[in-house]
Amino acid sequence: MTSETMLPGGAGGDPSSLRGLAGGGIHLPGDDEYDRARTTWALAVDLRPAAVAFPHDVQEVAAVVRAAAAAGLRVAPLGSGHNAHAFGDLSGSVLMRMSGMTGVEIDPDARRARVQAGELWPTIVEEAARHGLAALHGSSPDTGVIGYSLGGGVSWYARSLGLAANSVTAVELVTADGSLVRADARHEPELFWAVRGGGGANFGVVTAIEFTLHPIETAYAGMLVWDLRDAHRVLSRWAPWAAEAPDAVTTSYRHLRFPPIPEIPEPFRGRDLVVIDGAVLADDAEAERFLAPLRELSPEIDTFGRVPAASLMRLHMDPEQPTPGGGRSSLLDEFPQAAVDRLVEVAGADSGSSLFLGAELRQLGGALGRPHPGAGALAKLDGRYQLIAGGMMVGESAKQTIADCERVVDAMAPYSRGRQYLNFQEEPVDPSTGFDTSAWQELLRIRTAVDPDGLFQANHEIPHR
Ligand SMILES: Cc1cc2nc3c(=O)[nH]c(=O)nc-3n(C[C@H](O)[C@H](O)[C@H](O)COP(=O)(O)OP(=O)(O)OC[C@H]3O[C@@H](n4cnc5c(N)ncnc54)[C@H](O)[C@@H]3O)c2cc1C
Repeated sequence: MTSETMLPGGAGGDPSSLRGLAGGGIHLPGDDEYDRARTTWALAVDLRPAAVAFPHDVQEVAAVVRAAAAAGLRVAPLGSGHNAHAFGDLSGSVLMRMSGMTGVEIDPDARRARVQAGELWPTIVEEAARHGLAALHGSSPDTGVIGYSLGGGVSWYARSLGLAANSVTAVELVTADGSLVRADARHEPELFWAVRGGGGANFGVVTAIEFTLHPIETAYAGMLVWDLRDAHRVLSRWAPWAAEAPDAVTTSYRHLRFPPIPEIPEPFRGRDLVVIDGAVLADDAEAERFLAPLRELSPEIDTFGRVPAASLMRLHMDPEQPTPGGGRSSLLDEFPQAAVDRLVEVAGADSGSSLFLGAELRQLGGALGRPHPGAGALAKLDGRYQLIAGGMMVGESAKQTIADCERVVDAMAPYSRGRQYLNFQEEPVDPSTGFDTSAWQELLRIRTAVDPDGLFQANHEIPHR
């Protein structure tokens, strides 16, 4: 960050003037409901905002934004909290929780969804499926639609259809002066460009979003499973296969360690496994041909087959309850055999790693690697693989988890240029690493124009000049 760019400090105003706003949905430190109100999906994250607001409609959002500004407080919008780890100090900010604003409207003829900011994916995906349409949701059903979509959005369709951000057709947001602005290709085109990848919270509180739905009723999808001891053999095949696979294929490679507890179903209970899952947008014969090199490795479980598109929402088995997890990530440019050897060393069966989610590689490239026509600030992802290392952050285990995650990311550093996909980045990083140089300069300019006093606080914040 240069001296011309800065982030506002915690202003530290008095939140008591907010009382009575948001239909009574305001919780201040010391209130009975404050601790429940500040708890998010990310249970390991201890957010301590100056106040928490639960607005029910646009007018209540605007009233809280104006009152916060008048009181010298900042405003931090929050979806589910899946990326709450990266927020800085919130002691001078109102945490604006959008869970009270839900609703989905589908226009099947226009193939378009209009969604309120607090909505989660299951309602959208199921409604769209009734019309034979699919949304570009991610692997977790309960990530917030706004944070996921405006931060990028890598779905199981991503290598065919690109980032979810570039299927967004409009956003409505309350800006720093408390007015409601619609940004689309015809209205506020600069702001429309900036939010699609630059994230909503750098510019305002997004109250509704509209995006294109895609005519996908089924996919050839599922998972292949091996014992973790097979990791070297499987990764040696998957990494070059993933680099060459057609755009119709989007997969993930993971090391998973399941504890021996009754909540984990057989055959996963107590096992350390390699899991490759994903989806192929092709007919059965073609999909089987694409997957043949992986099936040759004789997985002990193979569930790949024709499934309804809506079932992809739960393919990855991501937790749907608040979870005390945490991790580290980076974008990788290549994954040669030396990277395979090293990853198995630091995250394989004999690595001594404490990580429950040892390591994950998401297959990028395809449409994700080409500038999307008419794209926003994040036109493509600058890497071939997304590395994610994750584990549980409970009590004393948290330090060990982060140390083990850092070991995995550091071991893969020779294959990275330090580029980041910020949606997966859970620690505060230099946000310019998420954009190309010209897009970053534009984002700085637009942030300064739209939010000159830095009222809004994002997790990965674009500074104002
Ligand atoms: C288990 C898990 C699985 C995931 N799977 C995927 C995946 O498959 N693909 C993928 O691309 N990513 C994935 N992610 C990353 C995910 O995209 C990010 O965590 C994303 O930020 C989640 O959005 P959220 O709104 O739920 O998060 P939050 O932490 O609530 O918010 C993230 C950012 O968005 C801003 N924001 C949220 N709502 C609003 C709003 N209404 N107005 C303005 N700003 C807002 C917040 O201020 C914050 O800056 C996953 C993350 C986890 C933990």
